[in-house]
Amino acid sequence: MEIRELMEECEAEIVAEYLQMDVIQKGNRKYITCPGHEARLGKPDLHIGNAELRKRGYMCYACHEFVNTHDMVMEVTGCSSAEAYHIMADAMGYEINSDCRRSMDIPRIRLSKWEASIIGLYPKFRVLVTQSSEKDDKTLVYDGLYELYKANRNIYYDLIIRKAKKAREKYLFCLEHYGDVKADMAYKIYNLLGEKFDNSIYGKIRLELDDRIERCERIIHIFSAERKKTV
Ligand SMILES: [Zn+2]
Repeated sequence: MEIRELMEECEAEIVAEYLQMDVIQKGNRKYITCPGHEARLGKPDLHIGNAELRKRGYMCYACHEFVNTHDMVMEVTGCSSAEAYHIMADAMGYEINSDCRRSMDIPRIRLSKWEASIIGLYPKFRVLVTQSSEKDDKTLVYDGLYELYKANRNIYYDLIIRKAKKAREKYLFCLEHYGDVKADMAYKIYNLLGEKFDNSIYGKIRLELDDRIERCERIIHIFSAERKKTV
């Protein structure tokens, strides 16, 4: 199959699922969190509903931009153009006949955008890893999680597990001190703001934190299992 044909036939939604992006259905439309927001607007897309999946890409109403499937793949994975075609072909189950280099090595276990953001990682962010040796410590910089995975799987898994553990701790701390109107820190706020203060906010905080703690635990569990396999 030629690249031109691939671009015509390839469905953005299938590719989004292949890349394990979060896809949410509202009515008969499907939405993703905009993978190009950060680069275009300087902040990640926190509101699912800005970017609508179309057949050949997505339309982000906040960025005022239509992005085709090929560029969406590059935004999400940080891969090269040639690799993006291969990912699209793989997702669709096509063979492509070009001399595109086939080097993209996508991790089997990946974080969704939301998961990456709740543990303080985001595929587009630079990843700093300190490597200690007998002589000195050196800091290696990777242009995103996928680059790190390609370079060293163990460091990739360890980084995610460590970040998820740290994030879980932070969320547990907040849950303990703010997760209920009677919790010590929450109670201080309640005391200060008085009886008219709408304390249903603590229920919302608790739900959000519970969600995040549960997801952190899942990440730790899944990535630890995968890490063991690579030893
Ligand atoms: Zn956007």
